[in-house]
Amino acid sequence: MSYLKEKFQQQGYLTRDQLKEYAKNNGISYDLVKKILSDLGIKIYDIKPKEKKKSTSDEYENCVLCGKKTEVKSSQEVETRDYYVKGIGQLCKECYQDL
Ligand SMILES: [Zn+2]
Repeated sequence: MSYLKEKFQQQGYLTRDQLKEYAKNNGISYDLVKKILSDLGIKIYDIKPKEKKKSTSDEYENCVLCGKKTEVKSSQEVETRDYYVKGIGQLCKECYQDL
């Protein structure tokens, strides 16, 4: 069980798939592995816990004309954006001035 304990310490959790793989590799039943782990108080997850979604708030809009990255964040309300033209979209400063 030391392999699984180690994994658990690394990850903070174990998945069923890892247990199944361990059981298979060691020629023991999955149920036995599960029982031993629950006796040890180790949590088993059906699936790997999802990593926190990366916030998209740091992404910047691209200019619809030249494709250059603007200084406007995607999360920003269009009403409050600079160089945003209704019906066209987000422009960079240069393109906006060229309009
Ligand atoms: Zn542009």
